[in-house]
Amino acid sequence: MSNDNVEQIVLVTGGGRGIGRACAQAFAESGAKVAICDLSLEVVEQTASELGSNVKGYAADVTDREAVDKLFKSIEQDFGTVNVLVNNAGINRDTLLMRMKDADWESVIQTNLNSAFYCCRAAARGMIKQRWGRIVNMSSIIGLRGQGGQTNYAASKAGLIAFGKSLAQELASRNITVNAVCPGYIETSMTNELSDEQKAAIVERVPMGRVGSPEEVARVVQFLASPAASYITGAAIPVDGGLAM
Ligand code: NDP
Repeated sequence: MSNDNVEQIVLVTGGGRGIGRACAQAFAESGAKVAICDLSLEVVEQTASELGSNVKGYAADVTDREAVDKLFKSIEQDFGTVNVLVNNAGINRDTLLMRMKDADWESVIQTNLNSAFYCCRAAARGMIKQRWGRIVNMSSIIGLRGQGGQTNYAASKAGLIAFGKSLAQELASRNITVNAVCPGYIETSMTNELSDEQKAAIVERVPMGRVGSPEEVARVVQFLASPAASYITGAAIPVDGGLAM
C-alpha cells in the first residue's frame, strides 16, 4: 500500500549547484523539508538561503562514510528521518584508459558509486521503520551505453543502476522504491568544461536538438518520489532528449 500522505524529508547530495540544486528547489517548492550537502558549507548555506526556510545546508563529503553517518544524525535532529534520498553528488575525471591514473579511477568510483552505498545504508534503516521511502540515484546515459574516454565514469554510473536494481529488490516489500535517472547532456558546470566543438557535436546527436536543463531532470526525480510513481521501482529512466535511443 502506498503512503501518499507522508511528509517528505529529503536529502539531496551535491545539492549546492547544478542538477542537485534544481532537485532541492523542486522539493522545497512542493513543501518538503530539504537537506542539501556539498563539500563547501559556504556554497550549500548560500543555496539553502536562496531556496527558502525549509532548506538547510550541510557540509559533508559523501566519500567519507563517517561523515555520511554524521550527516544523517544531524538531519534527524534538525528535520526528522530522511525518507527521500537523492544520490546526486558526482564528478568526472575523463581521460583515455591508457592515460588514466589510479586516482582518476578511484575518486570517480568513490564519489559516484561508493557514496550511494554509504547514503543508502544510512537511510534504509529509517525508511524500513517508516515502511516508506524513495531513493533516486543520479546515473547517466553513459551508464547505459558507455563512452570512450569515460571508463571510470561509465563504470560508476552503470554500477549505480545495478546497485539500485538490487537494492530495489531488497526493499520493495517495505514500500521503498529505488530508481535511477539517466540524464543526457544537461547544462551545468560539469558540462561547461566541454569545448564549444564538443558541445556542438553532442547536440547534433540529440534528436530533440538541444541540451537539457537541470529543472527537466529535477521534475523526473520529484515524480519518482511522488504518489504518481508509487508502483515504479528498479527503473532507469533516461532524461536525454532521445540521445540514448
Ligand atoms: P555539478 O558539477 O554542477 O555538481 C556536482 C555537485 O556534487 C556539486 O554540488 C559538488 O559539490 C557535489 N559533490 C562532488 N563531490 C562531492 C562529495 N565528495 N561530497 C559531497 N558533494 C560532492 O554537476 P551536475 O549538476 O552536472 O551533476 C549532478 C549529477 O548528475 C552527477 O552525479 C552527474 O554525474 C550527473 N549527470 C550530469 C549530467 C550533465 O550533463 N550535467 C549528465 C548525466 C549525469 P562542490 O560544489 O563542493 O564540488
